[in-house]
Amino acid sequence: QNEKVALFIIFGGSGDLARRKLYPSLFRLYQKGYLDQHFAVIGTARRPWTDDYYHQIVTDSLSDLQATDEQVAAFASHFYYQSHDVTNSEHYVVLENLAKKLDQQYELQSNRLYYMAMSPNFFGTIAKHLKSEQILTADGFNRLIIEKPFGHDYNSAEELNEQIRASFAEDQIYRIDHYLGKEMVQNISAIRFGNNIIESLWNNRYIDNIQITLSEALGVEERAGYYETAGAMRDMVQNHISQIATLLAMEPPVSFSATDIRDEKIKVLHSLHIDTPEEARRNFVRGQYGPATVDGARLEGYREAEQVASDSNVETYVAGKMEFENYRWAGVPFYVRTGKRLAKKATRVDVVFKQLPMNIFNAVSDEDKLGDNVLTIYVEPTEGFGLRVNAKKLGQGFATRPVDLDFRHSAAAAGNSPEAYERLLLDALNGDSTNFTHWNELSQTWKFADVVEKVWAENEPTDFPNYRSGSMGPAAANELLARDGRHWIFDP
Ligand code: NAD
Repeated sequence: QNEKVALFIIFGGSGDLARRKLYPSLFRLYQKGYLDQHFAVIGTARRPWTDDYYHQIVTDSLSDLQATDEQVAAFASHFYYQSHDVTNSEHYVVLENLAKKLDQQYELQSNRLYYMAMSPNFFGTIAKHLKSEQILTADGFNRLIIEKPFGHDYNSAEELNEQIRASFAEDQIYRIDHYLGKEMVQNISAIRFGNNIIESLWNNRYIDNIQITLSEALGVEERAGYYETAGAMRDMVQNHISQIATLLAMEPPVSFSATDIRDEKIKVLHSLHIDTPEEARRNFVRGQYGPATVDGARLEGYREAEQVASDSNVETYVAGKMEFENYRWAGVPFYVRTGKRLAKKATRVDVVFKQLPMNIFNAVSDEDKLGDNVLTIYVEPTEGFGLRVNAKKLGQGFATRPVDLDFRHSAAAAGNSPEAYERLLLDALNGDSTNFTHWNELSQTWKFADVVEKVWAENEPTDFPNYRSGSMGPAAANELLARDGRHWIFDP
């Protein structure tokens, strides 16, 4: 009764995303019974492949998963390959013939999911052809799943959005932000709205500042070509970090439904302060990693990476301050940072509470300073949360010390946490858009990012590379908080 019925048409079926994420995720849905008899997948790309060869690609992509050969073969038999140049109108006619045939063969009720797993340059043209060549069905559902990056700035995002909206209604569009598919990001809502002791304190009377860190230990690796056109601001801050900040800042939704949550996200983003150029200069720090020798091995700097210009000024690190101008958050900075080649891979949120109005223990022991209460939400690599409270030190006298109440687990290791893409694909099959990004959210975060990008473009950095591989970023990122009398909680 859980079985979903749909035809998937994947544009970019030979690509990296399809192999690494989409096929394994579809397979897990198959193992769990969400996909069974009534589904089929058409993979398209330009290369001429046979179905047999395509089955081999799909099979190979599942090699890390636990499965029997029979199960894999039965799953792969639902896959069909269609050589297809997305810019050629005639190819869509061939595609539609195959789609129609599979629709009958597998009784797919004209339900179709279109997945854009290829270069964003083609998103607009594919959407246009899906309508003009009448691939969109009249009686089933038609849903478009679209990958990041969604635009390069506000103007290009708006243009892309208009192209897509010419063929699809907003509620048919599922803009992927895979961070929203992560267990612990979703858990932000559980922690906030399932716990009175937390939500009661969730405002500017009790919270001093909130810190969001998405640090990566790896460098750009093989994504350098794309990265050179984007940088950390576009790659991480405009989308993932902004989405996490939004979930932390939004008001409690009327119910836990897609539309109610979305309403609140859009509302709180409406209060996101868009910096003036002067503020952007002050509130944002950029960095680029240089080479380093770690444990005797030399790590190359960003400018030495393949496909990177030797004088590149693309930022691989951003730290900045976001502010929501509303009753709940006025005066509470959201400090955010992300970067490559940092000391440790981690995604986490540190919520720092205000100090008590006075420290009565001072009189007893004058070297005693109360530590900050901090709620930490761990997203990756382990999932869970921690609460730092002050307790009495053992022994005579009355000194205090911070203790950590920690709840952590590795959901992936427990085997019951669906991978982000698996969850998002199932959401799209269910027509649930809670964990996807609405245009009104995107437009606001682009406006926010654009100001910073513009200031940066007008003032080329003179000190790049300005942080060492394996450090936690440029010194200016620490000064950003020190200036406000604060410091980064996570400091590995
Ligand atoms: P890729 O380069 O590996 O694959 C691109 C695919 O498009 C290939 O199958 C190629 O054959 C096909 N293609 C190219 N030109 C075509 C044309 N004219 N007609 C038909 N097919 C054509 O790219 P990828 O890494 O799989 O990324 C796909 C999308 O997913 C991009 O938007 C990317 O930004 C996004 N994305 C990828 C990842 C990832 O982990 N790979 C992560 C996040 C987002």
